[in-house]
Amino acid sequence: MTQREDETEQREEHLLHPPRRSWAEPWKIKVVEPIKVTTREYRAKAIRDAGYNTFLLRSEDVYIDLLTDSGTSAMSDWQWAGMMQGDEAYAGSRNFYHLEDAVREYFGYKHLVPTHQGRGAEHILSQIMIEPGQHVPNNMYFTTTRFHQEYAGGIFHDVIIDEAHDPAAEHPFKGDVDLSKLETLIKEVGADNIAYVSVAATVNMAGGQPISMASIKAVRELTGEHGIHLFLDATRVVENAYFIQQREEGYADVPVEEIVRKFCSYTDGCTMSGKKDALVNIGGWLAVNDEEIFDKARNMVVVFEGLHTYGGMAGRDMEAMARGIVESVQDDYIRARVGQVEYLGDLLHQWGVPTVVPIGGHAVFLDAKQFYPHMPHDHLPAQTLAAELYIDSGVRSMERGIVSAGRDPETGDHRYPALELVRLTIPRRVYTQAHMGATAG
Ligand SMILES: *Cc1c(COP(=O)(O)O)cnc(C)c1O
Repeated sequence: MTQREDETEQREEHLLHPPRRSWAEPWKIKVVEPIKVTTREYRAKAIRDAGYNTFLLRSEDVYIDLLTDSGTSAMSDWQWAGMMQGDEAYAGSRNFYHLEDAVREYFGYKHLVPTHQGRGAEHILSQIMIEPGQHVPNNMYFTTTRFHQEYAGGIFHDVIIDEAHDPAAEHPFKGDVDLSKLETLIKEVGADNIAYVSVAATVNMAGGQPISMASIKAVRELTGEHGIHLFLDATRVVENAYFIQQREEGYADVPVEEIVRKFCSYTDGCTMSGKKDALVNIGGWLAVNDEEIFDKARNMVVVFEGLHTYGGMAGRDMEAMARGIVESVQDDYIRARVGQVEYLGDLLHQWGVPTVVPIGGHAVFLDAKQFYPHMPHDHLPAQTLAAELYIDSGVRSMERGIVSAGRDPETGDHRYPALELVRLTIPRRVYTQAHMGATAG
């Protein structure tokens, strides 16, 4: 190896695995919730009763619940204090204005429409923006996002880079959009037939992989040239911003808070599940800059969610989310959050367990095909692994493969995704380092 190649390799190594400060949590525990310890026989029966589907287990029968990081966060004392200050007015609750201020300040969008959770926002955006038969390019897909796009008559396209489909590809930004795929699609169908471009940060289905600032900027430039709207799925944009800070040149000294704002500034609006990055158990929103889209959204939210100043949320829930946003963009918090996920990933690597690399922002994804190399795809390798993991350890995980991908609406047959994964998703501020050790062991 030449010295040059050696240096390049070191640089790439640094980008993928930057030296970390300790991720020790910037909080301490004030209230605890006991969890039940069960036997192997007990769990074998429980999973049989659940039809080998981890979604159908009772949460009481789970020791460490890594099914999802959705709505499972622990709230802070400051958020709980805010819950006591809920203004439960039907219209114009002061908590709505606090939430609006927080979204404007930290995400930079002009108009806020609260919704009961992320899919409520996806529904409204898809219904407003998509004419039946129009095309909607995405960087891979999320189940509810894609569903709402197709439900509104849209034709889904995946324009993520190829590396995203390869669990072994060590690319620092596997969520990036492949500009040539997007450009080809625009040429093929014409800009007028593209409803909007939908970009998620980070990309859950690719293994929690981030998209770079350079990529979102390039997508903005390309869509701008063609007059196409660009909407962000901001559900995990704070985790995405942390990866930009750690991996992308020029951002090492920029606070996560600023990176989030800059990232959002390249887009026309976002849908958000507050149940993820915003550190609450329920809530979401749609935010847009365009007046006309805002008007339509405000009219629509009334019939599907609730009046435009609560959108399906109690005042106290809006307050908790406004405060959760403020806490979520603090560098120390997000370092600990992603640090814990990386810690679990590192433990699993030491044990030689095959995972998607690099380790994602909210979860470690096990590569189920490598556990059962001879199992046919329609025998559901990821579903099998999730069930066995539960029986063995009491850890609940989630299938992200053939079952999640659903069936083709025309043929009724399985969709066969390239990736067959089991997701170990870490709730925010809930489990300790010892829990991660128990999970890996
Ligand atoms: C969870 C999630 C959604 C949907 O949000 P809900 O609050 O569950 O309705 C959309 N996109 C992504 C990336 C998500 O992770």
